[in-house]
This record gives sequence, C-alpha cells and structure tokens, in this order.
Amino acid sequence: MPDINVRDVTKRYGRITAIDQLNLNIRDGEYFTLLGPSGCGKTTLLRSIAGLVVPDEGEVYIGGRPVTELPPEDRGIGFVFQHFEIFPFMTVLENVAYGPQMRGWDIDYTEKRVYEALEVANLLERADTYPRDLGAPGLQRCGIARALATGARLLLFDEPMGSMDPKDKRQFRYELRKIVKDQGLTAVHVTHDQEEAMVISDRIAVMRRGRIMQVGTPLELYYEPNNIFVANFVGEIDFLDGFVVDNSAEGCVIEVRGGFLISTADSTKKRGDRVVIGIRRENLRVQLGRKEGEGRIPGKVKRSVFVGPYVRHYIDLENEYSIAVKEPSGRVKTISSGQEVTVSLPLRDTLVFDYPENLEDEMALE
Ligand code: ATP
Repeated sequence: MPDINVRDVTKRYGRITAIDQLNLNIRDGEYFTLLGPSGCGKTTLLRSIAGLVVPDEGEVYIGGRPVTELPPEDRGIGFVFQHFEIFPFMTVLENVAYGPQMRGWDIDYTEKRVYEALEVANLLERADTYPRDLGAPGLQRCGIARALATGARLLLFDEPMGSMDPKDKRQFRYELRKIVKDQGLTAVHVTHDQEEAMVISDRIAVMRRGRIMQVGTPLELYYEPNNIFVANFVGEIDFLDGFVVDNSAEGCVIEVRGGFLISTADSTKKRGDRVVIGIRRENLRVQLGRKEGEGRIPGKVKRSVFVGPYVRHYIDLENEYSIAVKEPSGRVKTISSGQEVTVSLPLRDTLVFDYPENLEDEMALE
C-alpha cells in the first residue's frame, strides 16, 4: 500500500537549494530513516512527502498515486512532529478521538478506532490523563495514537526523540519500531543521531546538502560506505592517505606518509592509485612500546579518555597523522598520556576510497 516514490524533487528557498533533484524509494512496511547533519534537507524532504512543502520540481507518489498536488489531509499520513500539536486542554482520549470526530465517523466506529489506537500506543491506562502529565515518550505515543485512530498507514516522525533523556530514548526507539512493525505500518523518521538511526531502521538514507549520499541497511552503511562522507558520518573513523604500491586478487598494499606499509583486503585498486584509507576506531589495536612490522605505526598517546565501556586513546602517530583508538576498558589502566605506543591497523574492515578532488570537503560533517 503506502510505498513512497520521490522523483527528481527539488525545493529551493531563495538561493538555498534545500533538496536537489532527489530520488528515493521507500518500500511498503519499511522503517526508513533520513539521516544527516543539520540543514541537509531532511525535514524539507519529509514535509514534501507529507504535503506540507510543495516541491518546485519533481513528483511524489504514495502507493503509486501522484500526490504532489494533494493536501496533507488527503494523503493518509500521520505526522508526528517533535513538538506536534496535542491539545493541552483535552485528555489523551479526547485528543485521540478528535480526528475520527472531525471526519464525522459514527460513535461506535469512532470508539472502536480510538480504543484500538490507545491499546497499540500503550495508553489505555492513561486515557484520562492530560498531556502535561504524560512526559516526552507519552506525548509521542499520544501523537501516534492520534494518527492511528484516523487510519493512517504511513507515519512520519521528525526528530521524535529530540526532547527525551537518553534512557527514555533507548526504551522509546524500541517501542516505536515495535508498533510500526507489529501493525505493518510504513514509517519515515528524521534524525541527525546516527545511533538512533542504526537501531531503529530497516534502511537509512544518508543525506548531505540536499542530496542522498547513500541508501542502505545499517550494516551496509557501516561496513560498505560508498564514500568518505558516509564512512565519516556513521561511526567513529579516522583517515590516512597514500598510494597503492602492490596489488593482487587478495588485496592491495598501501604506502602512507613516513613509508609505512598497510595491507588491505581491497582488490579493486591498482598500483599507483592515490587512495584514502578509513579505519574504524574500534578496529585498531594499541600496544605499549615501539613495534616494527607491516600495518604498524608507532606514536605517542596525547590523551586517554575513559568513557565507561571503552577507553578512547588519542594518539599522535610518528608520520604526523592523529588518530584515535577505541579499546574496551578495564579496571587497570595500562595506557596513559605521554606513553610511546604502536598502533596496529587491521587487514580486514579497512575501507579504501579513491582520493577525492577535495578531501577536506569530503570529510566535513556538514
Ligand atoms: P535540521 O536537522 O537542522 O532541522 P534539516 O536537515 O532538517 O536540518 P531542513 O530543515 O530541511 O534541513 O533545511 C534545509 C535547508 O533549507 C537549510 O539551509 C534551511 O535553512 C533551509 N530552509 C528550510 N526551510 C526553510 C524556509 N521555510 N525558509 C527558508 N529556508 C529554509
């Protein structure tokens, strides 16, 4: 039913192109997330799907039907904003009944829809509560119940967890996904929080400057990013650049500054290619002292930060790169600031990209 097709959509605000000839297909029943830095066009795209923004160019289809000219109320959509309008003077029950009543549905049918929606949103016991007593997750659930009561099969969420504390967030993202999946709904969710996107989504579109950089499952985006921006935006990563000095069917060897050799499992690059290597911080290993050998680079610990489950060591390498290593933490501190160490790079899980025209720009997280 509600699959969404965005075709060649452009939206400009004066000189700013908020979305730029964008194409996207969201499948029926999918939990889909638009992820990207502030100002990249996520909200404008979501609002174009909702009908709250009319594109300058292109078409939006929902369930195969062109809806570009249709007002939001005729699109069968439930829109749950971060600060959406729930009537403060009405109870949860009255808020949820508002949509069916406005549609003139008869009392029995309205009652059935409202109680079903309250049950799905886990609000039956709070039906007589006023919104001010609900808390942030409860307010969001009320918004969902309101949408469901009107028969919406497609839910749009704009930063729905923006005002929640971290503990509520973790619980709520699980609940949200469960509601969408149990009810067979389609959801489009906007966030700039990559962890939230990874946990909740079937697929994610990573956006930048009004365009989509990559669409994929959380696993694909993490392990097979198409470009440096996506690799950098999803997870913690550092980059080194160098030249391919040897290659075979098994992979290639890259020489980076200082003459250090790094073997990778990437077999797509040719000898002489200028490349950028991306290494996720949790894939690096650090040892005390100076060790020689391929894939190893000595350096000095600038600072070690205890984060609870892991320690992040910031290291100035001998070849003038600065990188960070994420290491599971233990009670005994073995590595600390100022120490000489050697960082070992992994053979697998190293990402290799063609050297871009403008590396600094590719790496900028905006
Ligand atoms: P955020 O996470 O900060 O909300 P976003 O990715 O949702 O960002 P949008 O809100 O879609 O981005 O904005 C994309 C660009 O369009 C930004 O440069 C923004 O300033 C601009 N923009 C959005 N809405 C308007 C508007 N109504 N008038 C003028 N410019 C706008």
